[in-house]
Amino acid sequence: MAGKKVIGVLALQGAFAEHEDALRKCGAKAIRVRRKEELKGLDGLIIPGGESTSIGRLMVSYDLADGIVERSQSGMPIFGTCAGMIVMAKEIPGSDQFTLGLMNISARRNAFGRQIDSFEADLDVKGFPKKVRGIFIRAPYIDRVWGETEVLAVFDGKVVMAREKNLLTCSFHPELTTDLSIHKYFLGMT
Ligand code: GLN
Repeated sequence: MAGKKVIGVLALQGAFAEHEDALRKCGAKAIRVRRKEELKGLDGLIIPGGESTSIGRLMVSYDLADGIVERSQSGMPIFGTCAGMIVMAKEIPGSDQFTLGLMNISARRNAFGRQIDSFEADLDVKGFPKKVRGIFIRAPYIDRVWGETEVLAVFDGKVVMAREKNLLTCSFHPELTTDLSIHKYFLGMT
């Protein structure tokens, strides 16, 4: 039998512990990533939700940004949730904050509006046999995709999950539910 998949969870800020739990429940080994050296030997990386401006700033000051971009270009799967989506996007309308610029998406921050700061919804995800519960917390949505980016889920006419080759992203927080299907899908990409 093959060994356990080793998945890094970027642990600079935000909801990283919940991703570690979900990965362990899926049978993978979860490693906290805070230093460049910790990117070595990973089968995949998760960029969690939190505050995208802080995560972006910390990635630069911890000297992690270039290493993540390099690993991504050599094919390592990366999964960004919520703030992680923003950090992966090539475009963020109305903001000049730092991003890794990995994915051909435009991610609009806090895009669902103040009245509905946080909400939950059952989502149809392309290729998934069952609906997935999405927990949205001051979530972004994708207002444009281009190139080889494929839309995987839409809520209220807005793109909330997408994939581009080795890159996966969603607006919501799959690590806050007991449903492991999205983490399993990501592990399947590794
Ligand atoms: N609103 C946050 C941002 O723009 C993202 C929120 C989250 O990750 N739950 O960075």
